[in-house]
Amino acid sequence: MKLCRFDDDRLGVVVGDLVHDVTELQSAIRASFPYAMLGDAVIAALPEWRGRFEARAREVPGFPLSQLALLAPVARPSKVMAAPTNYADHIAEMAAARLTSGSKHTAKIGTDGIFLKSTSAIVGPAGGVPVRFPERRTDHEAELVVVIGKQGTDIDQASALDHVAGYCLGLDMTVRGAEDRSFRKSPDGYAVLGPYLVTADEIPDPDNIPLSLSVNGQVRQGSNTSHLVYAIRRLIEFASSFYTLYPGDVYYTGTPAGVGPVRPGDVITVESAAIGRFDVKVRAHQVGTVWASAAAAPLHAG
Ligand code: MN
Repeated sequence: MKLCRFDDDRLGVVVGDLVHDVTELQSAIRASFPYAMLGDAVIAALPEWRGRFEARAREVPGFPLSQLALLAPVARPSKVMAAPTNYADHIAEMAAARLTSGSKHTAKIGTDGIFLKSTSAIVGPAGGVPVRFPERRTDHEAELVVVIGKQGTDIDQASALDHVAGYCLGLDMTVRGAEDRSFRKSPDGYAVLGPYLVTADEIPDPDNIPLSLSVNGQVRQGSNTSHLVYAIRRLIEFASSFYTLYPGDVYYTGTPAGVGPVRPGDVITVESAAIGRFDVKVRAHQVGTVWASAAAAPLHAG
């Protein structure tokens, strides 16, 4: 099953090119979970409610996906985790470009650890990426993103995939510079998620997912999760050795070579034959503009 969020915080089941609105079920789920829960109620409820989503989707008309304003597929993750330097070719390009000079990092995920991005940085494809510092280099990083489905801690690799709700595509937007990673990767809109969640049953082998990125139609990144230094199961084991993972938690798995700068006016396309594709516009940040969060209604256009 494919689940998208769209327009004014609506939930849809995606079938082919059509979206079937199941927002009524989303409302019922949210009302049945405690406010103080950690994680996303819809993702937590997915195993139990999936049949009802599918039944409801068959009852209601579909609307073309292309006509909807896509939000991030998860409304309220408790955290956004991200793997640094998890493709050998990206590690090499960072060293060659001296983008890591002066860094305290070793470019080895096992010693550097993963990092966290702010949940307030999350945006869907419709929101666009506002470049916060036009005078500095702001890079795209296309990544496969894991969405956690089941709470767990100290998860071993053998059971890691039991904790996955599904997958989507993401952009780990990054300001290059000397500050801490989390600081440079957490401006508003620097955690793009889309186009929708593909449930884990539709992805038999997460270690063989192609992904590519183009800017204004020119391909810049292309790889496959088969090249990950820490594969999906190991990433889950690694993160859960430090954190409890909650349903809806988002996990960027790293980016391959080809990262490069973007500017306002650019259109970034992220694509995978196993998942789908989305376009997102890069635009200028307007000083003083308050950002609507990932869960909110579609962001101001332009
Ligand atoms: Mn990244």
